[in-house]
Amino acid sequence: MRSLSIFGATGSIGESTIDLVARQGGREAFRIVALTGGSNVGRLAEQARTLRPEVAVIADEARLPDLREALAGSGVETAGGAVAVAEAAERPADWIMSGIVGAAGLVPGFRALSHGTTLALANKESLVTAGPLLMAEARRHGATILPVDSEHSALFQALGGEDIATVETVTITASGGAFRDWPLERLSRATVAEASTHPNWVMGQRITIDSASMFNKALEVIEVHEFFGIAPERIEVLVHPESLVHALVAFRDGGVIAHLGAPDMRHAIGYAMNWPERAHLPVARLNLAAAGRLTFAAPDPARYPALRLARGVMETGGLAGAAFNAAKEVALDAFIADAIRFTDMAGVVEGVLDRLSGLGGLEKPAESLDMVLDMDRTARRLAREAMRLPAAAERT
Ligand code: NAD
Ligand code: MG
Repeated sequence: MRSLSIFGATGSIGESTIDLVARQGGREAFRIVALTGGSNVGRLAEQARTLRPEVAVIADEARLPDLREALAGSGVETAGGAVAVAEAAERPADWIMSGIVGAAGLVPGFRALSHGTTLALANKESLVTAGPLLMAEARRHGATILPVDSEHSALFQALGGEDIATVETVTITASGGAFRDWPLERLSRATVAEASTHPNWVMGQRITIDSASMFNKALEVIEVHEFFGIAPERIEVLVHPESLVHALVAFRDGGVIAHLGAPDMRHAIGYAMNWPERAHLPVARLNLAAAGRLTFAAPDPARYPALRLARGVMETGGLAGAAFNAAKEVALDAFIADAIRFTDMAGVVEGVLDRLSGLGGLEKPAESLDMVLDMDRTARRLAREAMRLPAAAERT
C-alpha cells in the first residue's frame, strides 16, 4: 500500500489531490501520513475524519485547540504551527504533495526530500526562492521531484526522455488573466474581486490575482529555468486565451511537441500521482472541434511588467528569486488589503530589487536555506517600508 501526505490539503490543489485519492481507492488504496492546512480547521478536521491520517497539522497555532476538539476520539494525532508542519514533512511517505501557497511551502518541501520521497511540487515558490538547493537536496537523497504546475507538467511530458541539449526553445502559455482585454488605463482601478476571477482555471485567490498581473507566469518562467535547467533566453511565454495548449518544446531539428488538455489541475496532479504509469483520470476530454480555434499572441510588456522583472531575476541569479518572490507576496497582500493599486505591485517589487541590488549581495549563490530565509525576510521588510506599511508579523 502506498503512503502519502498532502501539504496544503485545504487549498485548491489540496482538495483536487484529495478528490483523486478518493477516486483511486481512498483509505483502501493509500495510507495517509499527514494532512496540513493553514487556518481552516473545520475543513482540515473533515478531511482527517475521512482519510484518517497519522497526523493533522494546522499551521496557525492559535487554531490548534479547535483542531484538537474537532478530532477528539478520532485517533488522529494533532499538531499546530510552522515547525509542526515542517516536522510532519519528515514523516516518511512514498508520495508527498507540496500544495502550500507561498514561501511557507519551502521548508516543508525541503524536509520531505530528506527521506527520498517523490515530491509532487505544486508550490512553485520553492523553486523560485531556492531552486538549486532544492534540486541538490533531491539528488543527495535520491528523491524525485515531479512538477505539478500545469505548464511544467506539460513540459515534463512533452520532453519525455529527450536530451535537453537538443531543445531549442520551450514555451509556456498564459491565459492573459482577468484583464487581458481591458484598456491599459483601466488597470489601475481594478478591484480585488475583479482580479480574483480567472477566465479558465479555478484556483486559489493568490495565484488567480498573480495570473491577472502575470506575476504567476513570471514565477513559472523562473521555475522552468530552475527545474529543467533551461537557459533563460530559451524560455518563451505565449498568451493563449483558450488555455488548452499548456506548453511547447521546439527541438533543434525544427520539430515541436505540444501538450494539450482541458484546464483541470487534476490532470497534472494525477499524472504526478501515478507517474511513471498513466491512470484513468476524471478530467474533461479535449474537444478541438468544439474549441474551433486556438489563438496565440506575444505578451504585451506594458500590460505585464512582471515578465521583464523575471528576466532580470534570472540574470542576477543567486538570492534574487527569494527577494522577488517575497516582495511580490507582500505587494500582493497589500493589494488584497486595498492598501495599493493593482498596477502598483510591479513597482513595489522592482523598487525592492533595485534597493537590494544597490546594497549588494543579491547575486550571491544561496548556500543554505538560512540564506534564502534571511533574504526573504529582508525583502519583505523593504517591501513594507516602500509602501509605508507597519512591520508585520513574519509570514514565511
Ligand atoms: P490555496 O490558497 O487554495 O491553498 C493553499 C494551501 O496552503 C491551503 O491549504 C492553505 O491553508 C495553506 N497555507 C496557506 N498559508 C500557509 C502557511 N503560512 N503555512 C502553511 N500552510 C499554509 O492555493 P492553491 O491555489 O492551492 O496553490 C497552492 C500552490 O500551488 C501555490 O504555490 C500555487 O502557485 C500552486 N499552483 C496552484 C494551481 C491551482 O490550480 N490552484 C496551479 C498551479 C500551481
Ligand atoms: Mg501554472
